[in-house]
Amino acid sequence: MARTPNSTEIAQPKVGIVSLGCPKALVDSERIITRLRAEGYAIAADYKGADLVLVNTCGFLDSARDESLEAIGEALNENGKVIVTGCLGAEANVITDRHPGVLAVTGPHQYEQVMTAVHTHLPAPDHPFVSLVPESGYRLTPRHYAYLKISEGCNNRCSFCIIPSLRGDLASRRIDAVLREAEQLTKAGVKEILVISQDTSAYGLDVKYAPYKWRDKERQTRFRDLCEGLGELQRETGAWVRLHYVYPYPHVDDVMPMMADGRILPYLDIPFQHSSPTVLKAMRRPANIDRTAERIHKWRAEVPDLVLRSSFIVGFPGETEQDFEHLLSWLKDARIDRAGCFKYENVTGAASSALEGHVPEEVKEERWHRFMALQAELSDERSKVQIGKTIDVLIDEVDEDGAVGRSKADAPEIDGEVFLSDATGLKPGDLIKAKVTAGDQSDLWADPVT
Ligand code: SF4
Repeated sequence: MARTPNSTEIAQPKVGIVSLGCPKALVDSERIITRLRAEGYAIAADYKGADLVLVNTCGFLDSARDESLEAIGEALNENGKVIVTGCLGAEANVITDRHPGVLAVTGPHQYEQVMTAVHTHLPAPDHPFVSLVPESGYRLTPRHYAYLKISEGCNNRCSFCIIPSLRGDLASRRIDAVLREAEQLTKAGVKEILVISQDTSAYGLDVKYAPYKWRDKERQTRFRDLCEGLGELQRETGAWVRLHYVYPYPHVDDVMPMMADGRILPYLDIPFQHSSPTVLKAMRRPANIDRTAERIHKWRAEVPDLVLRSSFIVGFPGETEQDFEHLLSWLKDARIDRAGCFKYENVTGAASSALEGHVPEEVKEERWHRFMALQAELSDERSKVQIGKTIDVLIDEVDEDGAVGRSKADAPEIDGEVFLSDATGLKPGDLIKAKVTAGDQSDLWADPVT
């Protein structure tokens, strides 16, 4: 009879840690040890008992740099397999010039990069009893969908937004780490990956599109390579890949063939915010709106079922009736399928608060109602076109009344739902075909196709 091994029977890879420097470096070491332990690594007490040694360095004073370089040399002599991290790691050439034999060098607070280097040179045990943390990490979303954060911060300086002052400039994650996370998510049963950031199409700009290997192929840290990698996972597992916060830069065109052949969902969440060139200028928005309209028409010719979701602000300081009407007619022309609309509000610290021409509240209110009425009309038209079609539905919830899911055109939480009345035998995460029987401004009703 098969027997489950206990933890003492499973070989645990052992990592030795040499921690130098100040309390902040010590906290970094603690965090790294926590991650290592959670993934099933053991911590070795000495060089001889370690399969690999991590040296967390200090580079504050010359004496500390010397001490760090000596410690790396000692670890190399005693053990041979050494990864270096910490403050001196920010000057990788100082380390590699003196010790060319080190396996990898990462900078301070780069926990993810340290873990990536450890995984590369000493793979984690893969028995689930050894790991206290699920391979896909802890998530707060339902089991069948997950957000995949590809970067922090933003290089834009929109006048109504304080995110760059809170989170700093764009800081992209390495593409291999992102794709590995996505792969782990699909292995854990995730059926939909939602790519998020502040500016998804700018991914990699800050790291000059640095290349890394994933699955034996070099990939650049850039939007197109990210989509290609995620598209590969879609091909293998069927998991949907949905792109959020994409700006309509020219290179977004690269993803259209991937949408056309089903590797990436034909869905783009683009926060346009407005269409009037005057308002966009006052908002300091990236991308040129005239070219954007052209681009949308081109995309639709290539991907006829493309769904565009966006958010808009009405009543921005200086917005005239003419600007607002520009927005309404642009909305019709671009056929934005899903739109959220916000009445402009001052945000403490945002440059737009100081602009002239603040719009009275009652005017904002009136414009908001006109915007929403037009949007409801456009969404309703779109839903009616779906009636009679057979669509893919990802099941989110099942109860005694039936099941609720989403089509490819619906992101969780923000878009519509698909209600299925006859839903026996379904469970969350199932991907089924259903024939649409009715629709309104946001939701569809459908019958499963057996
Ligand atoms: S609104 Fe978006 S793009 Fe503009 S600064 Fe804020 S986070 Fe960046």
